[in-house]
Amino acid sequence: MIRENITIGMDDIDSPSGGCTTHFASLLVEDLDKIVEEWLDYPNLIRLNPNIPYRTRGNGAVALRFAIDSSKSEEILPSIREMVLEYAEISYPNTNPGVVICKGDIPHELTDFTKRALWRTIPVSLATRVLSRLNLPYFAEGNKRGTIGALAAIGHGLNADYTYEYIAYRSMNQCSEPRGVDAESVFKMNDQMKEKTFANIDSSSQSLLIEPQGPDPVLYGIRGDCPEDVLHAASLVRSEQDAERWMIFRTNQATGEHLEQQIKISYLRPYMSVSVSCTVAENPRIIEGGHVILTVRDETGTIDCAAYEPTGDFRWIVNDLLVGDEIVVHAGVRPASRTHRLTLNLEGLQIVTVVDEVHVSNPLCRECGRRMKSAGTKKGFKCVYCGHKDSSIQKDRTYISRNLEPGIHLPRTSAQRHLTRPSSRLRKRNEPLNGMIAKWHIP
Ligand code: ATP
Repeated sequence: MIRENITIGMDDIDSPSGGCTTHFASLLVEDLDKIVEEWLDYPNLIRLNPNIPYRTRGNGAVALRFAIDSSKSEEILPSIREMVLEYAEISYPNTNPGVVICKGDIPHELTDFTKRALWRTIPVSLATRVLSRLNLPYFAEGNKRGTIGALAAIGHGLNADYTYEYIAYRSMNQCSEPRGVDAESVFKMNDQMKEKTFANIDSSSQSLLIEPQGPDPVLYGIRGDCPEDVLHAASLVRSEQDAERWMIFRTNQATGEHLEQQIKISYLRPYMSVSVSCTVAENPRIIEGGHVILTVRDETGTIDCAAYEPTGDFRWIVNDLLVGDEIVVHAGVRPASRTHRLTLNLEGLQIVTVVDEVHVSNPLCRECGRRMKSAGTKKGFKCVYCGHKDSSIQKDRTYISRNLEPGIHLPRTSAQRHLTRPSSRLRKRNEPLNGMIAKWHIP
């Protein structure tokens, strides 16, 4: 037998009325297991640029990595194609499935492609060129946009930081009914596992974050730093609907890697995910709806930043900034429209240095202690109560303490992206893996 390493990338195998790429991947893993010699990694869930306009939810793509008898590799693509056509709602205009197969080592060109897909918008034509240059077998439907995520998932080795997500799936024919995830069991699980898992609940509203809202097959997902912990945490969660299957993904969620590009203001383009090192140019203002708008500048230009109402108390941190404060904003670029200019939608904020806030007032009278008035230009101050005059006295300057901590500030958990590095992981990194056994399970 000649062993061959295979990576399959897939994306956009879903529709708003049911189905999602990770669920499809769990079915495919079960099917492929009959011919796979060895799973080389956990299934990979790769989150890509969260600010592109085409995504349905969290812009996630999946890669499966395994070794197989090379004589069987040709049968994989036609059988996946059949499965996709049976599973996805191809007729829906925003469902454009793509599945790509890469044999052997991952070409550098794909690694570069992935880096770009994490923060920019990639045209379908670029994916098509890469597919043909690298001669990769693929299958695509609709406008073929799914090939972008499929290629990017293959090209992501998860070689730097990574986390895990345990996803439980319900049966496809229960997708229109409530999941019935038991809140009490989730709060208990969170109390027990909060050092080892993250994004279980939103503490400001006490709402559950493990269960999605839409009619998709995901029952709940538990995110954490190691597979044993997410597995144990999941065993503590109760729900009315049963988990029909589950799978643990290794993922780039909670790594913040979509914000690694530091971009100057004049180079910002719609839908980029970026960090911008800048200075506050105008004091913040609150607009209708409770959103906070802040104007910042760097040496190349100025731009408005928006902290929207759902970001919670994060808005008030933004609202406390003053002209001259040095910050790094983490943001997605919102295109200009009839009503606003190109805007940075804030996903986070690093406060680097803050200016002194000084309150200037007329001095107190040395004779009677009451507030003095100006005696005229360059004439000092006079007291209207006791008549005392003083031409040498200066205005009082009071330094007001700024309640802003230097460092990273994030929106409330429910307003964070899948890719956002949460506060609990700010200083945490997972080490690269060398050799492992994939864990997935169909009860
Ligand atoms: P689900 O969570 O159900 O998988 P989703 O939020 O991942 O949904 P998709 O329905 O998969 O969204 O749609 C996203 C589409 O955008 C896919 O076709 C994917 O290939 C494509 N895509 C991903 N990243 C980029 C990018 N950087 N530039 C352009 N297109 C992209």
